[in-house]
Amino acid sequence: MPSELIQLKTRFFRYECAVLAMILFALPAHAVTKKKFLVVIDPGHGGVDTGAVFQEKGKTYTEKEMTLQIARDLARELIIKGHNVILTRNEDRSVLLSDRTALANRLKADVFLSIHLNSSGEKIRHGGVETFILNRATDESSKRLADLENAVLKESSAKQESGDVSLIMKDMILDANLEPSRKLACAVQGKMKAAMLDRGIKQALFYVLLGTDMPSILIEAGFVNNSADRERVLTTKSRIRMAVQIATAVDDYRMKKTPTHCKIENENEFKRTGEMKRKQI
Ligand SMILES: [Zn+2]
Repeated sequence: MPSELIQLKTRFFRYECAVLAMILFALPAHAVTKKKFLVVIDPGHGGVDTGAVFQEKGKTYTEKEMTLQIARDLARELIIKGHNVILTRNEDRSVLLSDRTALANRLKADVFLSIHLNSSGEKIRHGGVETFILNRATDESSKRLADLENAVLKESSAKQESGDVSLIMKDMILDANLEPSRKLACAVQGKMKAAMLDRGIKQALFYVLLGTDMPSILIEAGFVNNSADRERVLTTKSRIRMAVQIATAVDDYRMKKTPTHCKIENENEFKRTGEMKRKQI
């Protein structure tokens, strides 16, 4: 087949997929059929919650905008691979952490990916990617990051569930999802570190991961205050490359092709005690 024809077909295919994505995002969440592998993508922050902010030469860069850009590209790539995708937000609006996880739970999503951007208090020479799975925050920097990302939780504390039975059930679900989440994190970090500094896979107490009933990870896809990381997200070509890497990793996870050797940075400090505090559920 002449290369022009291949290019044309590819372009049409991508166009069809983009249209499909628009239709899917327009559907109410309850309309999604459960036959396909369902990925819920959670673009971190939104609305009044900007997430990390970086200002330079009169321009303001916000984490909430960058996470949405990554999420949309990732959604398209996953749809191209034949999966169902739902975003917890597809516009600049505030969404409670509990509503994000409730959506994924209600839809019985197969995996939950929360997308975030890192930031550091001071100038950072080397950025990089790190992927988190759920645990109590033990490592100091992981704890600091979790505190930052969880700050918005204060607004939603009234919506937390209670009851001993739900606590026990929740604990069992969290235990069951621990290993799959780890495999998913290994797959994603394994792909993303090809283009970015590898800051490893870590464990921290992110409430948005604590609320989900399926394998879940939180990706810190670079630093907003690192120019290379920022440009990677703001440049369409490199952002799409990042989306393809994550989508491929999700596919690898789905087909059980995740790396067998995968280190968790703060694993020695990892011990799940089962003492889930009621307010954390
Ligand atoms: Zn964030």
